[in-house]
Amino acid sequence: MLNIILSGAPGSGKGTQSDLLQKKYGFKHLSTGDLLREEIASGSEFGKRIDAIISKGNLVSDDIIMHLIERYFESVDDRAVGLIFDGFPRTLPQAEAFEQLLKERQEEALMINLVVDEQELVARMLNRGKTSGRSDDNIDVITKRLQVYHRQTEPLIGFYKSRNNYHTIDGSGSINNTFTQLDQLLAKWIR
Ligand code: ADP
Repeated sequence: MLNIILSGAPGSGKGTQSDLLQKKYGFKHLSTGDLLREEIASGSEFGKRIDAIISKGNLVSDDIIMHLIERYFESVDDRAVGLIFDGFPRTLPQAEAFEQLLKERQEEALMINLVVDEQELVARMLNRGKTSGRSDDNIDVITKRLQVYHRQTEPLIGFYKSRNNYHTIDGSGSINNTFTQLDQLLAKWIR
């Protein structure tokens, strides 16, 4: 059972690469951002609270995220093919809670970080904002999301390095170029 944590700054291509991995290997793809946006789209009170947080570029609380993740773990029955976590964990407390959850199930996760320089990240998100309809793909919120990434998510690099579980991919090239590297890296675990 392979759990893959696809990490990286906002705009680094986690969602795109996760979709490609899902198509090629049949992995199940969980994007916490997509889950949260579905909740917002449902129009629920809970969704309204989430929307207020996301549209400012802040992170949703660890409690809410862990609740969603635990619910997801329980709902996945066919675990044979592997899971991709896109946008999770995003804080140290989430990484610690996830480690505990995996330990209880005698499972492990592989961490892969997509590295893209800041100028390119901003350009990609501004471009996506033209069509995505996402309330957080505008320059003010993008700047905030990048700050939040550096402060709250980047420390995860040290966390996974200290567990000898840190791999990087250069995500600055084309979608295909990034996917080829990812595929080559994963070959060690998949084939
Ligand atoms: P991006 O990586 O481009 O920011 P996502 O869809 O992964 O896009 O996340 C969008 C927003 O959803 C984040 O800015 C944050 O507010 C919220 N979010 C997603 N995943 C998490 C998480 N694991 N913890 C806290 N907030 C999250």
